[in-house]
Amino acid sequence: MIFGGWQKCTLIDFPGKIATILFTQGCDFRCPYCHNRGLWPRKTESPVEWETIFEFLKTRRGKLDGVVISGGEPTLHGDLPEVLAKIHELGFATKLDTNGHRPDVLEGLFKANLFDFVAMDLKHLPAHYAEACGTNVLIKNILRSVELIKKSSIDHEFRTTVVPGLHRLEDLPALAPIVQGARRFTLQNFVPTHAADGTFRARKPFARTELEELRPIFTPIVEIFTIR
Ligand code: SF4
Repeated sequence: MIFGGWQKCTLIDFPGKIATILFTQGCDFRCPYCHNRGLWPRKTESPVEWETIFEFLKTRRGKLDGVVISGGEPTLHGDLPEVLAKIHELGFATKLDTNGHRPDVLEGLFKANLFDFVAMDLKHLPAHYAEACGTNVLIKNILRSVELIKKSSIDHEFRTTVVPGLHRLEDLPALAPIVQGARRFTLQNFVPTHAADGTFRARKPFARTELEELRPIFTPIVEIFTIR
């Protein structure tokens, strides 16, 4: 597995847990608002060696609760199951962040019981998905991942980053049938700083009050609805 970055301690990326977060190198999406553009290319060498991470984890048993595998897109890496299994063997809970484009990989991970929490980005309504993630996407794969995750017994979250110009607030209620029944759904306000597409850095995020108007739509249909 090629890791492009590593944050040794995070209190905000794994709900209820103190975790370390690993960022895998390589992504198949090109979201114009992405903050991790440096992780897009598929590289062959890892600036952060797995052996170093593994040794670190061995010293953190009882101090950290969990490990987040984020990206980039972790499911692009064929040895993801092996890495998750090794983390589990050390006694840590695991969380996977994914763009949901590879439901077959997710299904295999579910069957092997290799993670304890999954967070999937739901970029937009199907009709606007390609625009939001900067590339053509197999929508049937996205929707299959959503269903796999909702039907699983694993704690999970869907999150949509809302970006003026990409998203219209009046369109967002149409996400309700997709996320209905989910454990958690989060609307995440766009942060312009470091957006991959420089033209997005001048965009003003939605006002919190505008996003709050959507709360009555989503609160009744998921267990936990959050705006951040
Ligand atoms: S925001 Fe989009 S481009 Fe960036 S890492 Fe996530 S899926 Fe890939």
